[in-house]
Amino acid sequence: MTATKRCSKCKEIKPLEKFSREKRVQDGRRSECKICFRERDRRYYQTEKGKAAIIAGEKRYRLKHPEKRKARNAVTHAIETGRLLPTSSFGCYYCSAPAQHYHHQNGYTEEHRLDVVPVCRKCHKEIHKKSAKRRMICQQKYLFVM
Ligand SMILES: [Zn+2]
Ligand SMILES: [Zn+2]
Ligand SMILES: [Zn+2]
Repeated sequence: MTATKRCSKCKEIKPLEKFSREKRVQDGRRSECKICFRERDRRYYQTEKGKAAIIAGEKRYRLKHPEKRKARNAVTHAIETGRLLPTSSFGCYYCSAPAQHYHHQNGYTEEHRLDVVPVCRKCHKEIHKKSAKRRMICQQKYLFVM
């Protein structure tokens, strides 16, 4: 037998796996099905309160990951001072589409702050999705020696 549950929102009876897990409740599932939950989530983030929550979340993230912010600042600074060319001067390292970002291929620690490769937005997203340390390509290739 498959366990089912009635969604408190759309009132449909659906299999339990259509409900997200929620530790605090008795049957271990949310009262709203995934579809309704997603819909509510989407609406929430369009409200002022929701938008404020996003900003607060980003701020928390920045505080939690200071290395990342510093690494980004280092890149911005390097571009401003001419040590790095703007990304628009390059094609993406992976697919040669116009580059839009610099990717920190070896992480955000101090010694790797300028260890970057130009990437397009799409590949950049892919890289982080896979959180790939896949290719350690030649370091600081794009950095001018001063
Ligand atoms: Zn529902
Ligand atoms: Zn690309
Ligand atoms: Zn990156």
